[in-house]
Amino acid sequence: MKTHIITRLAHRLAQLYSKVLPINCRLCGICSDDQPLCKDCASELPQIGPACPRCALPTPHYQLCGQCLSQPPEQHSSISIYQYKDPVDRLIVDLKFNDKLYLTQFFAERMAEVIKDKPLPELLIPIPLHPNKLKQRGYNQSYELAKALSELLLIPCSNNFLERVIDTKPQSSMPYKERKKNIQHAFQSTASSTFKHIALIDDVLTTGHTANAAAKTLRLAGVSRIEVWTIARTIRHD
Ligand SMILES: [Zn+2]
Ligand SMILES: [Zn+2]
Repeated sequence: MKTHIITRLAHRLAQLYSKVLPINCRLCGICSDDQPLCKDCASELPQIGPACPRCALPTPHYQLCGQCLSQPPEQHSSISIYQYKDPVDRLIVDLKFNDKLYLTQFFAERMAEVIKDKPLPELLIPIPLHPNKLKQRGYNQSYELAKALSELLLIPCSNNFLERVIDTKPQSSMPYKERKKNIQHAFQSTASSTFKHIALIDDVLTTGHTANAAAKTLRLAGVSRIEVWTIARTIRHD
């Protein structure tokens, strides 16, 4: 518990520090004023471009991808901003494991820019961490992202509606075929929903199994339209 409080305090101090002192671009090191990336590096991040509306996999003319045509996911739509490759993957590792929470604001602003003109959901829900993981890490990067988006888009955000009840192995450590089984019963909703349109917020969409399991839990709780918003998406699963 003590470690948790100290970690939260360290994050808060890091956030304040980045607000008052000029910082250098995380990628090229030149002074970037109050931004984590300079303008050049930010504009060169690999955008996702035209993509399948259902799962955010790039498709040439925004059409549904083959996978979604044959076996659609639980979510009705997905939005991802970047391709999960260098240097976006390094930035997300920083955000997730190296306490670089000031990157959340940067990513949330880019996401809000893309999302703001679309029909907005009634509520944002971050993909939750299991309490054991939350204790280890001290924060849930998806919740931090959801809070920043909530402020930018003026949509409420709930961190209590969806719970992670099974402390699953990290999906990245599992063979592709076992990932679905690993995650499928990991979530539980704490109540039936009065909200009909919800967006799930996460950092990366990889195989989609995590988002799918969370979206299924929301559907069973009565949500009729579910979106998945992520900073980045993997393009292939090697
Ligand atoms: Zn730079
Ligand atoms: Zn698709």
